[in-house]
Amino acid sequence: MTGADAVRNALAWFEVNSGWAPPDEDTLAEWVADGVCRCPDECLVAPDNWCEHGLASWWLILDDAGPFRPR
Ligand SMILES: [Zn+2]
Repeated sequence: MTGADAVRNALAWFEVNSGWAPPDEDTLAEWVADGVCRCPDECLVAPDNWCEHGLASWWLILDDAGPFRPR
């Protein structure tokens, strides 16, 4: 599995789950400064990793997925 696969998994997860929201840039920057990142399902992982459920971290999602790109 690659980061791109994990991002695809997360995008599919968005389709069938509600109640999630992307973190704002400040929150994301705080997580990354601490060497961690949340996943959409609240799992805590390394910023460039994905959780045991196969969901990419928000850092990966916001970096790779056009629809959620904050910049
Ligand atoms: Zn998870």
